[in-house]
Amino acid sequence: MRTLRGIAVSPGVVVGRAFVVDDLRRPVAARQIEASAVDAERSRLTSAIDASLEELDALRSRAEGELGKEAAQIFAFHQGMLLDRTLVEPLHARIAEELESAEVAVQEQFREVAERFAGMPDSAFRTKVDDVWDVHHRVLRHLIGEHVQELSDAGMETVVLAPELTPTQAAGFGEQGVVGFATESGGATSHSAIFARALGLPAVVGVETLMSLARPQDEIVVDGDEGLVVIRPDERTLERYRQRAVRAAEIRSLVEGERGLAAETRDGVHIELLGNIEFAHEVKQVSDEGGEGVGLFRTEFLWLTSDHEPTEEEQFVAFRRAIEDSAGRVMTIRTFDLGADKYTQARAMYPERNPFLGQRSIRYCLANPLMFKRHLRAVLRSSAFGPIRLMFPLVSSTEELRQGRMMVREVMEDLAEEGVAYDAGIPIGMMMEVPSAAVMASAFAKEADFFSIGTNDLVQYALAVDRTNERVAELYSEAAPAVIRLMKEIVRAGRRAEVPVSCCGEMAGDPMYTMLLLGIGLRTLSASASRLPYVKRVVRAVRMDECEQLARRVGSLDSERQVSALLREQARTRFPELFDGRADDGPA
Ligand code: PEP
Ligand code: MG
Repeated sequence: MRTLRGIAVSPGVVVGRAFVVDDLRRPVAARQIEASAVDAERSRLTSAIDASLEELDALRSRAEGELGKEAAQIFAFHQGMLLDRTLVEPLHARIAEELESAEVAVQEQFREVAERFAGMPDSAFRTKVDDVWDVHHRVLRHLIGEHVQELSDAGMETVVLAPELTPTQAAGFGEQGVVGFATESGGATSHSAIFARALGLPAVVGVETLMSLARPQDEIVVDGDEGLVVIRPDERTLERYRQRAVRAAEIRSLVEGERGLAAETRDGVHIELLGNIEFAHEVKQVSDEGGEGVGLFRTEFLWLTSDHEPTEEEQFVAFRRAIEDSAGRVMTIRTFDLGADKYTQARAMYPERNPFLGQRSIRYCLANPLMFKRHLRAVLRSSAFGPIRLMFPLVSSTEELRQGRMMVREVMEDLAEEGVAYDAGIPIGMMMEVPSAAVMASAFAKEADFFSIGTNDLVQYALAVDRTNERVAELYSEAAPAVIRLMKEIVRAGRRAEVPVSCCGEMAGDPMYTMLLLGIGLRTLSASASRLPYVKRVVRAVRMDECEQLARRVGSLDSERQVSALLREQARTRFPELFDGRADDGPA
């Protein structure tokens, strides 16, 4: 038995069998195979190469039609590489003779080829290095994608273990019999962690040495409350965890029983609880969990789960469905928030050096106006089918907000000219998630119709802590006084200008923060559907004067540690049923 400590990112405890997933972007784990597995491994390689060739065929025909012969030749060159015996035979030899897994063979062989090209004196060869990596990624994706596929066949309680998971991989877990996951890297607000909470899967990230200690099929405990992963637990440990799981299920059913009750404090103040969704079909889940509408639709997942930019029509169909399912309730559509840890397949090939400070979100959209207009057309067309609010992510200057609004106006004019219906009165708001916007909130309040505080990003930019980096995860905290002060500033500016303010970061779904959020003046919270019943339980148990008093006490503290300690103590005393057994340093 080995117990490893990581970061608790999604609560609950599960026991399952390990399913090991490698990652495209990192060196794949050096895994040796048994001699008896050579044939199977070689046929996996052949299938991955065949699938890549087929994909390249389609890309080539499409490029010929849309981009011309020259572009198509690039894909022809990629195909040529995969048909070249001098590349493919050594791959098979590595598996058969060195007993390398197909992934390792692909990684090492392509690395050699890339190095050979890079060392050639002729620059024409040197420019081929990117092509080699491109083909390498494609084949590897088929090998690793195949793992994900196998997941659904596993037919058992599966715990996924990986060096790192992309949000897209995590998004698929709901349908694949996965009961929890653990990764070596990541932080509490990385998007795969957000998915874990949305899917109600216990998860632990930032678990060092996980991949070298766990083996496929090992029995694994994921303790998403304490941030622990137990590999090959002994019988006593298993029994303890089984009892904890029973207790957690009891609490879940307790809060779920209250889903249909009003989200009102004891002194009668209504708190609007909304859901965060990634896909149109989740609207129903939000209302099932007692949400009054959608406070954040992360539309970029439409693209992240596709190998191409979704067409205007594909987007329109998804948005219309979300709106129709909303049946007149709040529906906040956020424009594509791509970049940082949410990259499309095409962009994964050309990583930025510092992607969280790079061309992400609204910046990426403004830099690609044709793509942005297609996106806005789909959103605006769907507005003819029910009320929506439109929201821009990561706005950091008033110019950006103005440019975004101008694009919306231009698209509205185009649609009007074409006689296409849309709602001309859509409220246009913005995420408040960059300190430069928070500090200038009163200026933005003159031009935005609403604010939604995105604490996931606000924390990382205010504290200079990468939200996905486990090495600095201890420094990442919503309880930091600087963050709370920025939030208060936003709420105050919104109130003065009568601009509605909500919070849609993960903080809004953590019951430990609910009293503080109400106390600083927020009346609308938006969180993963599965978290709403927990937040509602707190809302219904408190009075507003208690919340305001707590917020004042928090405001008098000047260290994160003191704030966390106070909130934790308050939560444990007031809501022992929700915080029982939670680790001192573990976020909900
Ligand atoms: C946030 O940053 O708080 C937010 C809600 O957006 P995302 O997590 O998608 O970046
Ligand atoms: Mg954000």
